Amino acid sequence: MRLLVVEDEPRLLRSLAQALRENGYAVDTAENGPEGLYKAQQLDYDAVLLDVMLPQIDGWTVLGTLRRQKSTPVLMLTARDAACDRVRGLDTGADDYLVKPFDLSELFARIRALIRRSTGQVNPRITLGDVTLDTRARAVVRAGQPVALTAREYAILEFLALHRGEVVSRRTLYEHLFDENDDTLSNLIDVHVFSIRKKLRPGLIATRRGQGYCVEAEPPA
Ligand code: CA
Repeated sequence: MRLLVVEDEPRLLRSLAQALRENGYAVDTAENGPEGLYKAQQLDYDAVLLDVMLPQIDGWTVLGTLRRQKSTPVLMLTARDAACDRVRGLDTGADDYLVKPFDLSELFARIRALIRRSTGQVNPRITLGDVTLDTRARAVVRAGQPVALTAREYAILEFLALHRGEVVSRRTLYEHLFDENDDTLSNLIDVHVFSIRKKLRPGLIATRRGQGYCVEAEPPA
């Protein structure tokens, strides 16, 4: 999952980006409103973390402008805890709201919930035949046994599982799983998919030649 964090306090931006990467997200960053708006318009992020008080263009304006074009899930971050701010955020089209200073575990839980809702996934567990993904723990179990996937392998499998029944192109996987700092050449998706199949089940991820990959909506048990 690829996130955009728009925050003008450099230390907070750095620590947020680092914590999110450690939790397996690809993270792009922006330090002001115009840069954040530009990036959010250019790419289909899985979620955007948007600070309210930003230089040049504030978070409300970024959100309002983005909403005329896209329904990307947006979590507003603000230092203020005024009810009118929350109402304004939700009225402008924010999907959720978090008041600074916030607990990182709460932020992660809200991001996971936001992404689940946006993909129509209500349950944090996804079952694919004998394979179960726990999106809270980022853990995979097959036939009752835990299977260790690398962070990248998990991210690919989770993205395909959240979009099960759809063919997902390699380009889409690159856009959602690698951030602006990644060297994509050293991260060949095919190699990861080969490894996931080997660890879990050969037929779990189907290759659609010339189109991409697909996890069946209801695979055989
Ligand atoms: Ca700020």
